[in-house]
Amino acid sequence: MIEQEIVRSVDTESSPTSQLQTGTLPERLFPRLTSQQISRIAAHGRRRSIAAGEVLVDAGDKVIPFFVVLSGEIQAVRAFDGAETLNASLRAGQFSGESGLISGRRSMARLRVTESGEVIELNRDQFLALVQTDAELSEILMRSFMLRRLELIARDLGDVVVIGSAYSPGTLRVKEFLTRNGHPFHYVDLDRDAAAQELFDRFRVTVDDVPVVICTGGAVLRNPSNRTIAESLGFNEDADETRMNDVMIVGAGPAGLAAAVYAASEGLDVLVLESNVPGGQAGTSSRIENYLGFPAGISGLDLAGRAYTQALKFGAHVIVAKGAKALACGGARYTVQMDDGPRASARAVIIATGAAYRKPDIENLSRFEGAGVYYGATPMEAQLCVNEDVVVVGGGNAAGQAAAFLGQTTRRVYMLVRTDGLADTMSRYLIRRIEENPRIVVRTRTHIVALEGNGRLERIRWRDDRTGDVETHDIGHVFIMIGAVPNTDWLGGCVVLDEKGFVKTGPDLSREELDAAGWPLTRPPFLLETSRPGVFAVGDVRAGNIKRVASAVGEGSIAVAFVHQVLQRN
Ligand SMILES: Cc1cc2nc3c(=O)[nH]c(=O)nc-3n(C[C@H](O)[C@H](O)[C@H](O)COP(=O)(O)OP(=O)(O)OC[C@H]3O[C@@H](n4cnc5c(N)ncnc54)[C@H](O)[C@@H]3O)c2cc1C
Repeated sequence: MIEQEIVRSVDTESSPTSQLQTGTLPERLFPRLTSQQISRIAAHGRRRSIAAGEVLVDAGDKVIPFFVVLSGEIQAVRAFDGAETLNASLRAGQFSGESGLISGRRSMARLRVTESGEVIELNRDQFLALVQTDAELSEILMRSFMLRRLELIARDLGDVVVIGSAYSPGTLRVKEFLTRNGHPFHYVDLDRDAAAQELFDRFRVTVDDVPVVICTGGAVLRNPSNRTIAESLGFNEDADETRMNDVMIVGAGPAGLAAAVYAASEGLDVLVLESNVPGGQAGTSSRIENYLGFPAGISGLDLAGRAYTQALKFGAHVIVAKGAKALACGGARYTVQMDDGPRASARAVIIATGAAYRKPDIENLSRFEGAGVYYGATPMEAQLCVNEDVVVVGGGNAAGQAAAFLGQTTRRVYMLVRTDGLADTMSRYLIRRIEENPRIVVRTRTHIVALEGNGRLERIRWRDDRTGDVETHDIGHVFIMIGAVPNTDWLGGCVVLDEKGFVKTGPDLSREELDAAGWPLTRPPFLLETSRPGVFAVGDVRAGNIKRVASAVGEGSIAVAFVHQVLQRN
């Protein structure tokens, strides 16, 4: 289970001095603060009394204060569909809250006083100021918040129920969207759960409505878009789209999140726009093994979750499921038009929109997307094909990682590559892993010619380009990993691109290109600056970038240093 994996890594990564290294999981989830630590928290907030029966926070509340119990008892209960489940009981020295407090999302729990007493109360701004300035408390609180969120996920204690089916492509999308946003949900599988029909009747659901998402308060969303889910669950309520920001970062992959962490921690007003979920391509990786500092590797989901929380901790505002549609670059300030109309403005812009999966030219490919055709191999997709045969298309590192990962749980992995072998396109460590796993079969100079199935993928036909022979296999899962194309359509000619559509920056821009683009300054563009002053490009979207997590993160952090220089000169 991914959650267990994350709990393990959250558990092993704190400093050796942490008081949280010891203790059982409940103790790490609900630690008791020392009197010294409590008095440091008290300096940021106010003491107040609480009375038995008082509801301090209700499920769905937008404003969630942080409480440290001095005396008495508070219970955190899950209130869903009229029923209550006890999540936790907090007594003297213990504190309330979980990840939602940092991200400014609505409360998933009701906090009720069960024994009168006294608490310290901090509003969210006071809480953020505390974790930004007190390293020891930051570690204790952040760690416990992350563990609590993971516990909610592991125990299905969210405020959302998803009713779906493996035959509906939207189901995987919705599950992925909630999972990659770290939002706990309870999944009801229509194909296996007898009680599901009862739920269907209750909500008058038709096949076209699948998946159905039921939220706190009973809102029933039928096959909702990611944006509708984000709006219904209040994911973006913390961000004020109308205010002028120092810097707007478009894209929350590793490059954008790194830029957000550095910019926000250095005191800039930061707005991040993300069309899907934080994490980008890296978030779809089963295990990143070459990123510095993680000798045992780290799942993309975990890395993305940590980076996202870090950016929020420093005060960056992140809007998810709402992308940039156009960049207006005529005036002194930059304006980005969002998908659904509103505009956001900033004095500088960092383009970090990365790249999107390249799709092979196969008829009816889109019909099976999410229903047998996948572009990422995370534990969620892996669960769908345990002990079955699968196909991985591609010969690069992403395909190699997917094959090695799927090779642990599936019966057989057929790797289809167009070239004569893997040596020129894949890292040596992955090639070795593939060669050593008897479940992985590499078919060179081979490509898919047909996908077939009724509702979901059932059969694949592929051709050997040397012999022309076509083989047919009853396989219901194909993972497509054949590279990516830059996400630059939304830039609409604002900045100079190379012949493949990647954004040109710094010394790569010729004098002629700058003149043609109307570069107005006597200085040349900074490193990573585009043909527009104050507009930077980082990560996979940038021409000449090395397509790695580390280089995306490095470029995101470097760009912020230049943003400061641009802002000082304006
Ligand atoms: C399966 C897989 C495995 C990988 N494994 C490794 C590995 O082990 N090691 C390694 O170093 N690298 C690995 N990579 C490569 C690495 O993930 C990328 O180089 C890195 O993610 C690039 O980061 P980025 O932030 O530049 O772009 P991306 O990760 O592509 O992120 C861009 C973000 O921008 C968003 N976006 C796009 N358009 C818009 C818009 N108009 N408005 C708002 N947001 C938008 C996207 O939704 C996305 O979240 C892997 C890639 C894949 C696909």
